[in-house]
Amino acid sequence: MPRLTRRSALFAGAAAASALAAPAIVRAGSLGSNGRTIVVGAGVFGAWTAEHLMRGGGKVLLPDAWGPAHARASSGGESRMTRGSYGPDEIYARMAWESLEEWKLLSAKAGLPIFHETGVLFFFPKVEPYVEQSLEVHRRLGLPTERLAHSDLRSRFPMIDFTGIEVGLYEPRFGALMARRAVQTLVADYIPRGGLYEQAMIVPPLENGERLGHVVTREGRRIEADQFVFACGPWLPKIFPSLLGRRIFPTRQEVFFFAPESGDDSFRPGHLPGWADFNDGDIYYGFPDLEGRGFKIAHDAHGAAIDPDTGDRTPSSQALADVRMFMARRFPALAARPLSEARVCQYENSSNGDLLIDFHPTLKNVLLLGGGSGHGFKHGPAVGRHAAALLRSARQVEPRFSLATKGERQARDVH
Ligand SMILES: Cc1cc2nc3c(=O)[nH]c(=O)nc-3n(C[C@H](O)[C@H](O)[C@H](O)COP(=O)(O)OP(=O)(O)OC[C@H]3O[C@@H](n4cnc5c(N)ncnc54)[C@H](O)[C@@H]3O)c2cc1C
Repeated sequence: MPRLTRRSALFAGAAAASALAAPAIVRAGSLGSNGRTIVVGAGVFGAWTAEHLMRGGGKVLLPDAWGPAHARASSGGESRMTRGSYGPDEIYARMAWESLEEWKLLSAKAGLPIFHETGVLFFFPKVEPYVEQSLEVHRRLGLPTERLAHSDLRSRFPMIDFTGIEVGLYEPRFGALMARRAVQTLVADYIPRGGLYEQAMIVPPLENGERLGHVVTREGRRIEADQFVFACGPWLPKIFPSLLGRRIFPTRQEVFFFAPESGDDSFRPGHLPGWADFNDGDIYYGFPDLEGRGFKIAHDAHGAAIDPDTGDRTPSSQALADVRMFMARRFPALAARPLSEARVCQYENSSNGDLLIDFHPTLKNVLLLGGGSGHGFKHGPAVGRHAAALLRSARQVEPRFSLATKGERQARDVH
């Protein structure tokens, strides 16, 4: 993988200049047809936005305080599910499906897989509207989703105990995205084609006036551009405290991996797909043993509020006991298997789970991008395309992604 840091000739003096007492002024490149854009934050949303802006001929700088998909970013970690089942929310089924092609192209370019077509199985205690609505949307989009009755589920996936389950939705074309690898590959691929990246922390901008002219790094270096995107995930409330401090809710989420018995293939890809138990709205989900990492399981319920900088990332015994109890019920062969790894990550939730892709209310050349809400990763390519189109004035703000629809009380209804 190529080195991630590359400064253009225009940025070459920046590091030396930043040591001077007066802040240096750095220009983000000569004006391209779409202007100069700084995309702050190289998570999945920022990286795909930078990529799409560059494809459109723009000159882009992508700074990140700690690096693409680093350990504390929401895009860090091993795997993310991509699926088309979203109940009535066709907008997300469509974005997931459109994004899949881009993920596959990136996977084909990378030395190691970025997408594993494991299939995805959702199962439900009863036939609820979500099931019929997902199938209806998938018929319209042409997704090859199978509806499975209890007896089909039992015969096709014998490693799962389907007691109390009436119906399943199986999506053979979806699966797992290797999260950190995906974002780092994307940024590494964007740099040699002319994209600019650097590791730098940007301080919260002043929000007075109608336009932002520059951002400032923590070291005091000024970087000018024509337009700005803040794709700072769970850090967005810190960048815009009065605007987003009560509209993006970072929550603590724990993920566990367990080692299956040696020689037991039933938890390997090809046997077990990505899965989610809808469990009357209290969802658990996970993956087969991908690349030897272990069987993955997580409880999707929102955890306690967390500060992405200072939050304790020690996995808790309560959360471990919780997933073990679930495994005893649904994956009995794994219930007593050893824990191989655990992580604490954070969701950056909007009030209802809808994404935020809208302009700052006063700074007209600043786009706010975030609110992935535990389901954003898969949509990265479509989000980047959408954001780039907004910046080119080639489309309108989608009402569901607007700032105006982001409440100050959590009431999640996107699943
Ligand atoms: C445990 C877990 C499981 C998930 N499962 C799924 C799933 O199965 N499927 C799915 O689709 N989605 C899933 N998600 C959601 C998805 O991963 C996130 O919505 C998505 O990664 C958010 O990306 P982002 O780019 O908005 O934020 P981030 O990845 O957090 O990126 C923001 C970046 O901004 C940078 N930054 C912040 N402040 C500054 C600053 N001042 N200056 C410079 N840089 C800055 C940070 O360093 C960071 O790299 C899951 C999330 C978690 C945590």
